[in-house]
Amino acid sequence: MKPDIKSLTEADLGGSLQQWGQPSYRVGQVLDWVYRRLATDWDAMTNLPKSLRQRLADGFGHYPLELVRKQGAQDATQKFLWRLQDRSLVESVLIPANPALYGDASDRHTLCISTQVGCAYGCKFCASGLDGWKRNLGVAEIVDQVLAVERARRVESCTVNVAGSGSAAAQPAAGDLPPATGRTVNNIVVMGMGEPLANYDNLLAALRILNAPWGGGIGARKITISTSGLVPQIRKLADEPQQFRLAISLHGATDQVREKIMPVNRKYPLAQLADACDYYQQRKGRMITLEYILIAGVNDGLDQSQPLADLAHRLNAKVNLIPYNEVEGLPWVRPEESVQEAFLAGLESRGVVATLRREKGHDIDAACGQLRLKTEREMASLPAP
Ligand code: SAH
Ligand code: SF4
Repeated sequence: MKPDIKSLTEADLGGSLQQWGQPSYRVGQVLDWVYRRLATDWDAMTNLPKSLRQRLADGFGHYPLELVRKQGAQDATQKFLWRLQDRSLVESVLIPANPALYGDASDRHTLCISTQVGCAYGCKFCASGLDGWKRNLGVAEIVDQVLAVERARRVESCTVNVAGSGSAAAQPAAGDLPPATGRTVNNIVVMGMGEPLANYDNLLAALRILNAPWGGGIGARKITISTSGLVPQIRKLADEPQQFRLAISLHGATDQVREKIMPVNRKYPLAQLADACDYYQQRKGRMITLEYILIAGVNDGLDQSQPLADLAHRLNAKVNLIPYNEVEGLPWVRPEESVQEAFLAGLESRGVVATLRREKGHDIDAACGQLRLKTEREMASLPAP
């Protein structure tokens, strides 16, 4: 397979074009087609000479993610299930900043992206790890989740507009889309399928492209990486020049509780994880987020408030409480609302900055990994063709 154009930096592309004797302004033109106009077809790049389009086509691939399934309305949380070249499935979730659910229209969106097919870390509550790890995503496969969502939204809005005018038109091809007037995605959270820091090099390369002004143009502070706690990589990330935000999937404030649900805790126990987080804080001067899923009878006891508060204070971190999304086939359940509220109050009374995700409609908000699992199971239960 040829290298995908979306895995290249501006400098990489510049090097190739220079070798081909092209003027330097061509670099900007190609990048404009890929990242602003979202073209997926070399022939759509009409301001480039035909010979250059041919050279690009000979030298590079452009493999867009294929949308297999979409859930959710355009003005609410939407899940996208993608098929990759090797037919693996991954998903991305688009979350409006102010969910339309509450009557607030907003054009600000956060996209949750995946970094691996499956996950090797096997957290007991998580759908992504249920069928194990298959492979890392390549740089372009990570980058294209953002571009493919932008393409799908533009196609959607063209279709909605056309449909609204009463004529039944076919969906326009992505290469025919008008230039972007505005972007849908202004925040990225790397909280989809997979452990991002286990695919460190591809993740960083992709985030640099999504962050670059010539690429995705999304500020580093608007990009959050979530990890189950890979200590060496957290330290490495702390030494990177970019100011990405860090979220730790904690889910247990003592080794005893955390170990039960997160096998990674045996390799990197809380003391080591906290040291690495301290280091990140020192290097970045940024507040870390501790994610804490509330699972009934596992980690929602009020005896956990004190150790969790101690950790949050030590790390100068805020805590995001997330009511567990139940996963078919797994025994874990979400605690009653009263228990969730009591847990939040326990933290707040100890001076911790904490939030509890209270939105309704969690069937669609469900954590990444679930749509893929469902689709793969449905496909497996179909009779062979
Ligand atoms: N591997 C990384 C990023 C992907 S998981 C990590 O673990 O941080 C993203 C978040 O979704 C994690 O905090 C994870 O613990 C959480 N999560 C997984 N399954 C969930 C579920 N069923 N309900 C709620 N959150 C879940
Ligand atoms: Fe992997 Fe994160 Fe799921 Fe754990 S929570 S299995 S690390 S994706």
